[in-house]
Amino acid sequence: MSIRIGILGYGNLGRGVECAVKQNPDMELAAVFTRRDPADVHIMTETAKVYHVDEAVKMKDDIDVLILCGGSATDLPKQTPEFAQYFNVVDSFDTHAKIPEHFADVDAAAKKSGKIGLISVGWDPGMFSLNRLYANAILPEGTDYTFWGKGVSQGHSDAVRRIDGVVDARQYTIPVEKALSAVRNGENPALTTGEKHTREVFVVAEDGPDKEKIEKEIKTMPNYFDEYETTVHFISEEQMKAEHAGLPHGGFVIRTGKTGWEQEHSHVIEYSLKLDSNPEFTSSVIVAYARAAYRLNREGQSGCRTVFDIAPAYLTVKSPEELRKHML
Ligand code: NDP
Repeated sequence: MSIRIGILGYGNLGRGVECAVKQNPDMELAAVFTRRDPADVHIMTETAKVYHVDEAVKMKDDIDVLILCGGSATDLPKQTPEFAQYFNVVDSFDTHAKIPEHFADVDAAAKKSGKIGLISVGWDPGMFSLNRLYANAILPEGTDYTFWGKGVSQGHSDAVRRIDGVVDARQYTIPVEKALSAVRNGENPALTTGEKHTREVFVVAEDGPDKEKIEKEIKTMPNYFDEYETTVHFISEEQMKAEHAGLPHGGFVIRTGKTGWEQEHSHVIEYSLKLDSNPEFTSSVIVAYARAAYRLNREGQSGCRTVFDIAPAYLTVKSPEELRKHML
């Protein structure tokens, strides 16, 4: 029998999960739930049955894993513990500082219901976290580096959109090549975030307002831009649609370390991602982890988990025999 997947929230990730389920032969999409009018969302999906979120609990026996695709800022802190009362759930909660708190809330709900709640799945947190952990365990004496980009930062794009006179904006985070090479060469540089990344912003402005003023406001925005070298380009609405509609992202997790006694040896571990579509890739990771959530719960396990707690063989449709024969 297929693993029956439900999607809660149909934005970029929701659409990505719909695509990813199609690539996994042991899964089927049972339902999409939304807070909006289901008819409005139905026209955006390919074939999914769309229901209002209020219908979800009634369908708890028809869904093996509910994938929560809401936003990290306000949706997931509420939705993940709420729905862990009824379903095995997976989310991509990415507010790093609040993960311990979110874990505790989901753990309490999932232990009570006997379900699995798998949180903060994606690439960062997610695949990047796993690679940081592996590298730290292998090279206890060393230094960690994470570089992001080149990619669109939704948070920074939104911050620019809130400036008076800005119609639309897209912000790219770009790793600094010189810093990246120094790390890869094992030079162990001490780098501030501003030395690791630059920011490039494309802005569509209303007719009239002072562009210099907008540019200054962007470049001096505290926490977002003030510590970075930032370039601002003013473009037309047509250019924005034609050249900046995608959501690419990626980055590098690197750890450099030393081993040896009489003679010291240097090592560099690097994991990199170059993603044409951040949400489609994130959704592909989530769907693999949904398989793990399903399997763990079938074994009788419950409570909250993160990517650190999941053995790799639980992620794949391949049998342990196939894995040993072809992938070890
Ligand atoms: P979206 O803004 O596209 O969607 C979030 C929610 O907003 C949806 O679930 C949907 O809920 C609602 N929504 C979507 N489109 C509309 C619309 N047109 N009008 C009104 N409501 C809408 O966010 P993303 O899918 O891009 O990302 C979700 C979260 O994933 C992010 O907050 C981020 O934290 C996380 N993420 C994590 C990553 C990781 O590596 N861990 C990587 C990438 C993202 P509903 O259908 O109920 O209205």
